[in-house]
Amino acid sequence: VEKKSLNFIEAIIEEYLEEKGEGAKIHTRFPPEPNGYLHIGHAKSICLNFGLAEQYNGLCNLRFDDTNPAKEEQEYVDSIKEDIKWLGFMWDNECFTSDYFQQLYDWAVQMIKDGTAYVDDQSPAEIAEQKKTPTEPGIKSPYRDRSVEENLDLFERMKNGEFPDGSKVLRAKIDMSSPNMHMRDPIMYRILRKAHHRTADNWCIYPMYDYAHGESDYIEGITHSICTLEFEVHRPLYNWFLEQIKDGEYAPVQREFARLNLSYTIMSKRKLLQLVNERHVAGWDDPRMPTISGMRRRGYTPAAIRKFADTIGVAKRENVIDVALLEHHVREDLNKITPRMMVVTDPVKIILTNYPEGITEKVYADNNPEDESAGKREMTFSRELYIERSDFMEDAPKKYFRLSLGNEVRLKHGYIIKAESVVKDENGDITEIHCSYDADSKSGSGTEASKRRVKGTLHWVSAEVALPVEIRYYDRLFTDEAPDGHKDKDFLDFINEHSLEVSHKALAEPALKDAKPEDKFQFQRIGYFCVDKDSTPEHLVFNRTLTLRDTWAK
Ligand code: ATP
Ligand code: MG
Ligand code: MG
Repeated sequence: VEKKSLNFIEAIIEEYLEEKGEGAKIHTRFPPEPNGYLHIGHAKSICLNFGLAEQYNGLCNLRFDDTNPAKEEQEYVDSIKEDIKWLGFMWDNECFTSDYFQQLYDWAVQMIKDGTAYVDDQSPAEIAEQKKTPTEPGIKSPYRDRSVEENLDLFERMKNGEFPDGSKVLRAKIDMSSPNMHMRDPIMYRILRKAHHRTADNWCIYPMYDYAHGESDYIEGITHSICTLEFEVHRPLYNWFLEQIKDGEYAPVQREFARLNLSYTIMSKRKLLQLVNERHVAGWDDPRMPTISGMRRRGYTPAAIRKFADTIGVAKRENVIDVALLEHHVREDLNKITPRMMVVTDPVKIILTNYPEGITEKVYADNNPEDESAGKREMTFSRELYIERSDFMEDAPKKYFRLSLGNEVRLKHGYIIKAESVVKDENGDITEIHCSYDADSKSGSGTEASKRRVKGTLHWVSAEVALPVEIRYYDRLFTDEAPDGHKDKDFLDFINEHSLEVSHKALAEPALKDAKPEDKFQFQRIGYFCVDKDSTPEHLVFNRTLTLRDTWAK
């Protein structure tokens, strides 16, 4: 068996497993901050962390990195769990950094006793100022040499709520002249009076990311703490904090990969929140959002997202992936799995003048030519039908293969028809196209006429049974490849004015009447669609997931 070559993280893991020998297991974690909904970048991290655990028969924790009560909410916790499960993963343990607040506090006290942490009375701005730049040594805080006793006393009183917000911090005592700025006595704790979504008002001091993250990995027995490249420069600090507390050989290792960037997309949670709050979109799950819930509502599938994440692999250098690649995987999956349906989006009426009045008949349509087991469905054929307005021209140029006066087309799964004349309203718009049909040409009937080749095949619905539906045509939210990559412009300047267009004109074949939210279809010759959560049996609403082909390609 040929072995797929390992990516650099797999190589690190295989080396680890080999070194540890029999019985060794890897343990990863996915650590979202519950301050927003998950997006496609998180999906990449989820596929990586849960995927590695699956691949190497290890474990993966879901850890809510909830150390900033100012921005975190239960709603986000719930959505994160739902989205991970929808992608097809399940965590081994559900953890919260807030569950470790007491342990983290105790370790901080220990560090004070060890002389490696101190209370600083300066403001965060003063502290930042004194750090200087990498090429010049920082200035030591006047509080750096406080006695252990004084530090213990002050830190306890910080915890007890004796000092106002922002008036003191706890800092690690490392090296104010380190070339790595993160090592210049980083802040470990700050005072913040804000109710926490889990610990309520139990705490008024909160640990900072750099302190909390590695120690949480340690508590959970994480072997590989995989994060994005911007944390590479934090790695010495991650290791330093572990050195202060570790007891024995075990320590997690942090490894970094390039975050996913997608063209025509923004991923900053702050900016996504702004889109929601300023109502540029209908919510976090708006089908134009790059959130997992938005993609779900748009009709993307977990399989397509996972395939995409797998295809792009892990990189050690920042890059931008073309969003067309994600869309390609969505189309490929939808092409395999979606039943075909006929929906006329902008109808014009056809009357078959030589078809008997007062009767209808059944014709049979393949549900999915890619999947024989999907079977066939019944469609109703009748004297009056609808086709797309754009599928007819009175005076057609030579290469026009749709319907025009005096020319024939096949109505898919039905008969061959020929346009004879048109009826117009006072504005000159066509209201009816009168056609004749070839009564011997029924698809699948085996007659000579049924095998007759005509240039065009059109989709249609019977006027007798057509179902009016609402269609929401979604397109990319931004018109620019890098909406937040311009110095002189805001990402909001690039919002695509046509990213949503709503139509109430469409008529669907009746087989769609029982469609439920998230059901997915290919509307033949039109695109991929799914049922929106706003849909009801009385008022069906479809979202356009994607057109059949990439219409953005240059
Ligand atoms: P933001 O900067 O938008 O707030 P974040 O990285 O702070 O995002 P977290 O909730 O902290 O969001 O992220 C959880 C995990 O997802 C982290 O391990 C982070 O590295 C990973 N992650 C976030 N964005 C991406 C991305 N674009 N590509 C890959 N992984 C990502
Ligand atoms: Mg963040
Ligand atoms: Mg983060």
